[in-house]
Amino acid sequence: MKTLTVNLGERSYPIYIGSRILESDELLARHLTSSQVMVITNETVAPLYLERVKQRLTGKETAEVILPDGESYKSIESAMIIFDRLLAGKISRDASLIALGGGVIGDLVGFTAACYQRGVPFIQIPTTLLAQVDSSVGGKTAVNHPRGKNMIGAFYQPQCVLADTSTLDTLADRELSAGLAEVIKYGLIRDLEFFEWLEANLERLLARDAEALAYAIERSCLNKAEVVAEDERESGLRAILNLGHTFGHAIETGMGYGTYLHGEAVAIGICQAADLSRRLGWLDADSVERIVSLLARARLPVTPPTDLDADRYLDLMAVDKKNVAGKLRMILLERIGRATLPMAVDPELLRATLNEYGR
Ligand code: NAD
Ligand code: MG
Repeated sequence: MKTLTVNLGERSYPIYIGSRILESDELLARHLTSSQVMVITNETVAPLYLERVKQRLTGKETAEVILPDGESYKSIESAMIIFDRLLAGKISRDASLIALGGGVIGDLVGFTAACYQRGVPFIQIPTTLLAQVDSSVGGKTAVNHPRGKNMIGAFYQPQCVLADTSTLDTLADRELSAGLAEVIKYGLIRDLEFFEWLEANLERLLARDAEALAYAIERSCLNKAEVVAEDERESGLRAILNLGHTFGHAIETGMGYGTYLHGEAVAIGICQAADLSRRLGWLDADSVERIVSLLARARLPVTPPTDLDADRYLDLMAVDKKNVAGKLRMILLERIGRATLPMAVDPELLRATLNEYGR
């Protein structure tokens, strides 16, 4: 097992990564200080892993909430169901919540924990690759509002993150690939050596080689933890984690949520950001080709949907959180392994990428 630390002063916490670590009695106990615990999961994950977690909770007063599966349940209504169960069960302020599932459950439970009686401790047990390398680390929690994704939320850090890589054995291939988009992103934004490791080991990850997965998760979390430690609330550096996301969010919204998984839209967005970086004279054509080919090998889409033309794209990108005073800003690549901070882009070059890349 590997242990990393997210360094945030008194809000610091460990990330444990390893195969079958959910079978350790000691690990979870170390971070459960009270006798009351509520596990929140969904209908897909519960039959697979809930018993395994409950076995670690003997001697505790344990409640569980099993929600339906899906992004649409990352809602204030789901939070209300959990609040209601907490209050009805007279669960007090020193109880702990456990999020068992992918990013939807993690974001929802984190948000609920931040709000219940002004904050109760919570533990992340992420069970998708995306959640293990991204959403469970860093303290961004939220539910969706009908007018916008992640619009109601809080920064709230967990007590620990417990990433059992063996849970990925049951994950759908498409979900695994979507998680790999974010993994590749870490190499691109700040870790050339990791990018090169991914070029050499991608097939091992697709084959779910336990050792390779553990390494990729650890290296991804290390990169995310360092960025978050430097800029917890995204006043600057943390924005580099959004490489490919300005294009990607436009694709997700423009095509309707669910057409592309988040990681798939981000993969296309990374390719477009790479193309734009080449037009600015930063990346050479070979580097763009390396990026596109690694994403394609990860079984991710690398060309934008034909239904979205440049005008529609620009329209959708105009609502991005990184924009300032109506000016579009995005993360680009100076080279493989180094991202820019959010920067205003030349509208002509952006239009050229939208009209020409992958068309
Ligand atoms: P998800 O939670 O919907 O999980 C994907 C699917 O896999 C679901 O059907 C789920 O039930 C299933 N699943 C989960 N674990 C499984 C397992 N071990 N075996 C089989 N099936 C399993 O999606 P996700 O990709 O994990 O997370 C996406 C969410 O994360 C989005 O809501 C996104 O906004 C959020 N997110 C948050 C952050 C953050 O910093 N907080 C970062 C990135 C993404
Ligand atoms: Mg993302």
